[in-house]
Formats: sequence, structure tokens, C-alpha cells
Amino acid sequence: MTADRTPAPVPFQVAMSTRFRGVDSREGWLLEGPAGWGEFSPFWDYDTFRAVPWLHAAREAAFEGWPTPVRDSVPVNATVPAVGPERAAELVRAAGCTTVKVKVAERGQSLADDVARVAAVRDALGKQGRIRIDANGAWDVDVALRSVRALDIAAGGLEYVEQPCASIEELAAVRRRLDVPVAADESVRLSDDPLRVVRADAADILVLKVAPLGGVSSCLILAEQVGLPVVVSSALETSIGLAAGLALAAALPELPYACGLGTARLLAADVVADPLIPVDGAIAVRRVVPDPAALTAAAPDDGTRRRLDDRLRAVEAEA
Ligand SMILES: [Mg+2]
Repeated sequence: MTADRTPAPVPFQVAMSTRFRGVDSREGWLLEGPAGWGEFSPFWDYDTFRAVPWLHAAREAAFEGWPTPVRDSVPVNATVPAVGPERAAELVRAAGCTTVKVKVAERGQSLADDVARVAAVRDALGKQGRIRIDANGAWDVDVALRSVRALDIAAGGLEYVEQPCASIEELAAVRRRLDVPVAADESVRLSDDPLRVVRADAADILVLKVAPLGGVSSCLILAEQVGLPVVVSSALETSIGLAAGLALAAALPELPYACGLGTARLLAADVVADPLIPVDGAIAVRRVVPDPAALTAAAPDDGTRRRLDDRLRAVEAEA
């Protein structure tokens, strides 16, 4: 036995309380190191190559640690998945946040569904709150223009639209013709060159997610390079992964927008005893550690465990 042996990664699997981004459960590995705990939980639709930055981010959390925070609390938005208007209103009231992000353009749904959801959110939120929408790149330019204008009216003003179209060229075209600010998300985190969206004048705001971008430090460098406002969002991690997003948001010199880190409640369970849940629309900046009982409850089934083993091995070989 050596005292400095790195503990074995711990696998986990937790169900989503609401289907989101087409996923019903989140699974991955928790890594423990001298700096704390990190989470490695790339979505299954990320190939090995794209999952490598997620491992870098988890290792940074476990072995290197994060920069000194400049704030002790991070304002967050509530998130409303592509649910019906009544459920949307319930979620807004339960969250107690003054900014709400509404998922729109879900496959199989219509603009009327989006309008009804956004209007219900405005009703539940009151006049003062901010509403942003996220289309996850689902629209083409014409549909984006028509949809955003309709939703801007339904919302009584949108804070911004996130990734209305998939390509940077389309984003730029939409941005030129809309008054609503455009935020880029997938164009940043799925791109080989996260700065291309900035050079193309395709976004007013960048959404940064720590895991797909390789860690807190690389996100801080990126934020400094782009010179645009940044919104830190989660990748639907457990509180272990959310803590990394919180560390980034806490270290940014400017934080003009509420962050998308209030997603712990989208999971039916967590791996910590005291999850990073917002209180009065903000999350206190802190580190968290897994809870043994929660980890036992979150043990993956055999099939998932085998997939997780294979994936970790494959990504480690590339990292
Ligand atoms: Mg997004």
C-alpha cells in the first residue's frame, strides 16, 4: 500500500426527473484527487475524441483545483424543458429564480407549443423577470426569424435566444436581422475552433460549459480572448460537476447574466448529501463531496457499468 495511490474512479447513474436534451438518465465517473472531486460524464452522443475535454475537466477538479473566486454567490436561471404550459408555470414558481431559460423547437412540437410555454412562463414569472430561449440549433434562418419574433412577443421581450440555428453562418444571418441578442452554445463547445463564432460576428453572448471545453482554466482563457459576455452553463452534471461550473462563474471578472447552473433539480437524485440547489435565484460558491449512501444508491446497473468502463478506457487512451 502506498499512501499516495490515486483512488479508483467511482461510477454513478442517476435518473433525470424530467426528460431533457433527449436523455432520461445521467451517468459517468467521479474522480477523487488531492484538489477534490471531479466528474466525467460526457453524453453518450459525444464520441471518444469529443469526450477527451470532459476528462481533462474532471482531472483538473481532482488534481489541480480552480482559481480563486471573486464572488461567493452566482445568480442562476431556472430551466424549463419542452413541457406543457401548466408544468412550465409550476417549474418557474418552484424555482424562485428571476431569470428563466425555456427550451423551444423540440422535435415533434410546434411554434404554438413554444408560444404557449413561453407565455405561461411570463405569467408565472411576472413582468420583471427575464426570459431567454434555447433552440439547440433546430431552426433554419427563416424559421428562426419567424419563431424568435413570435416568442419575443409572447415573452413580452426576450433576454436572448440561444443557438437558434446550427451553423455559424446561419447564426450570423439571424443575428443581423434580429433585435433579440443571439447567444452561441453548440457553436462554441462542439467546434474545433471556439473562436470562429466570434470572428464571424455570429453571437452577442457565449455560453461556456466547463466539461466540454476542458476545464475551468481553459474556459477562463477563452472568456478573456472573446471579449463577449459569458453565461456559464451546466452539462446536466451532478453537484460534483456543477461545482466546476460554479468555480468558473465565481472566477470570471464580469458576470452580467444569470448562469445555467441551477440544473441539479433536473436530476431525480444526486451523489452529494447537500446538492447545489439555488436559493432565491443564486447558488452559494462551495466545493462538494460525494455522500457514501448517495453513491450506493447511484450504482449503475451491469450493462451501464460495462459501457462506462469501455468509455473511460477509450477516453483515457486518447487523453
Ligand atoms: Mg444550449
